[in-house]
Amino acid sequence: MSEPLSFDEARRRAEFLRREIAANDELYYVLDSPVIEDHEYDALLRELAEIERAYPELITPDSPNAHVRGTARAEFRKFAHTVPMQSLDNALNRSELESFFERTARALSDGSYEISWVCEPKIDGLAVSLIYANGVLETGSTRGDGMVGEDVTHNIRTIKSLPLRLKRFSEGSVEVRGEVCMSREDFALLNQAREESGDQLFANPRNAAAGSVRQLDHNVAASRKLSVFLYHVVDAPRFGIKSQSELLRWLEDEGLPTHGHDRECRDAGDIYAYLEEWDKKRFTDSINTDGVVVKLNDLELRDRLGSTAKAPRWAIAFKYPPEEKRTRVLGIDISVGRTGALTPTARLEPIQLSGTTVQRASLHNQDEIDRKDIRVGDMVWVHKAGEIIPEILRVDYEARAGDEIPFMIPPVCPVCGTEAVRLPSEAAIRCPNRSCGAQLQEGLLHFVSRDCMDISGMGERIIRQLTERGLVRSAADIYELSAESLTDLERVAGKSAKKLEEAIDASRGRPLHAVINALGIRNVGKKTARDIAIHFRSMDALIAADEQELANLDGVGPAIAASIVSYFSDPHNMSVVERLKDSGVNMIIEDEGESPRSRSEIFAGKRMVFTGELTAMPRQKAESLVESLGASTSASVSKRTDILVAGAAPGSKYNKALSLGIEIWDEAAFLERLSQNNLAPH
Ligand code: NAD
Repeated sequence: MSEPLSFDEARRRAEFLRREIAANDELYYVLDSPVIEDHEYDALLRELAEIERAYPELITPDSPNAHVRGTARAEFRKFAHTVPMQSLDNALNRSELESFFERTARALSDGSYEISWVCEPKIDGLAVSLIYANGVLETGSTRGDGMVGEDVTHNIRTIKSLPLRLKRFSEGSVEVRGEVCMSREDFALLNQAREESGDQLFANPRNAAAGSVRQLDHNVAASRKLSVFLYHVVDAPRFGIKSQSELLRWLEDEGLPTHGHDRECRDAGDIYAYLEEWDKKRFTDSINTDGVVVKLNDLELRDRLGSTAKAPRWAIAFKYPPEEKRTRVLGIDISVGRTGALTPTARLEPIQLSGTTVQRASLHNQDEIDRKDIRVGDMVWVHKAGEIIPEILRVDYEARAGDEIPFMIPPVCPVCGTEAVRLPSEAAIRCPNRSCGAQLQEGLLHFVSRDCMDISGMGERIIRQLTERGLVRSAADIYELSAESLTDLERVAGKSAKKLEEAIDASRGRPLHAVINALGIRNVGKKTARDIAIHFRSMDALIAADEQELANLDGVGPAIAASIVSYFSDPHNMSVVERLKDSGVNMIIEDEGESPRSRSEIFAGKRMVFTGELTAMPRQKAESLVESLGASTSASVSKRTDILVAGAAPGSKYNKALSLGIEIWDEAAFLERLSQNNLAPH
């Protein structure tokens, strides 16, 4: 045990801790990019709580231990919660759980109650509240500071597993709460793509989910695969619900997704058994869970216990300790990505970590290696960031024998031997040779992928053979392949060669944004490709655009603009684009005989809002269509709204639009206007 702090020491330490906590809060809650691990942050909070217990006079009115942390970002419309969204107290071990059980038993000692508990995995995501009015999803909001959150309805609506209409509940209003999250697989894919395009990586799925939900542009959220799991109904007894178990089944009966691994427990023994079981299972679940929430089952008893300003007294979050293990760095390998980035990866002596065998950990770039001073032969501490991605935390310097070898990324590409370059603004070192075998293969894999040319059947094995045999030296060569040349490849029978030829042929008609995305222009992903395609409407117009015009576009900015201009000023790239055009690859958005002028008369410049359900197409599709015709869309009705499109069972937006005298179209009127623009609803 360390010596107790004197009052002055405690005061200085408390000030330091408050500053640290506030700085990390900003990074975590506002910017969605924490720099320390959650358990390190929790340790700061706990240390402050201990000081506050020892010296209550040091407690400040805004103590982070007394309030829900977080703030609503100013760019979003604010959403005031009628019932505050709280946090949870946590327990890190059995003795802290025991204290919780004792506190609860003491508080309920005035009667002989039959107590039971419900254990639920603690989903590592972003808390959201959803309001269904007359059975239809009306608003989605974040927790914010617990009292006021952000209105993120436009992004919540893009979550595919979330029903826009409840199955049974159809009259009045109900508020349900839960967690938006991202699966481990989708998180890993998203970060992989971000690493390739030089974007900052998300620290864990929670931050990826939070960063996706807290976007002004719903297309970003739509392009990231988000899930939501509900676990709470506000004012549940109003719906005849008496317990947490009943509440979860009620949610499921309404068609709302629940995590589904909840269990009713009679006593502490049952709960410990559950904690042990879930500790093994949690690594095989596709959703990251960082603990278990233990909740009193009976809702009436919960009411008797009430809550503090920060958390309910009837629940506690048990958090599993983070797993860190020591192992040796056997070597450092360099791989070459699509954009030529040379990425160092540590080869490790295999260890078991969070449910899998770990033998590799990305080191990202030279700066990271230097910052942590990682050498070949070092003993290092490894964990999985967000319990998913292996990461070297630090070197065990005391274990150094002196023969460890410092590592520098070689100045030449390990695949083609070309001298590597580092742009002043980038952390990555790149191979500038576009014909480099590794870059070519990665680039082609991107070119044929679903969001690009969507050539199904052309996987890694085929691309490797095509490049190794020199049959394909750039994406344009794909369109010169025939069923005969494909049959020559290993394990490609006549039938699959024919199918592949058909898939290549069909890809000629892919939309312009997919073709732009397929080119693999650095920093231009799916969303930017879509925005610039809608703006320029043809590849030629995009090629002719100057940097300033590009930089002025919404969502583009100077870095992306420079990267687009640099791509098209390269003769090699231009020759690929020309050859793709000559092969019949689509390079325009069809105007279908329509003059842009008549389109704009109806839609261009209009601010549109959609409410209720459309039968002819999903709302997202309707929004994209009108945006492609020059309108802008918004999630809420205001004085500035020009047109409200009201589908079946419209929500409160309908009444608001009526009261503001805004033009309202029903679905038939909307479809009629679309058809005047030669746009069919599919
Ligand atoms: P919390 O995450 O510890 O627990 C409360 C939350 O758990 C609830 O608000 C709810 O959103 C969620 N939850 C998930 N599954 C649930 C279920 N089945 N039932 C009920 N609730 C469930 O507390 P918090 O206040 O949301 O966030 C604080 C935590 O955020 C800290 O403990 C820390 O781990 C993390 N944090 C980290 C940093 C950092 O820099 N790393 C900074 C700030 C906060």
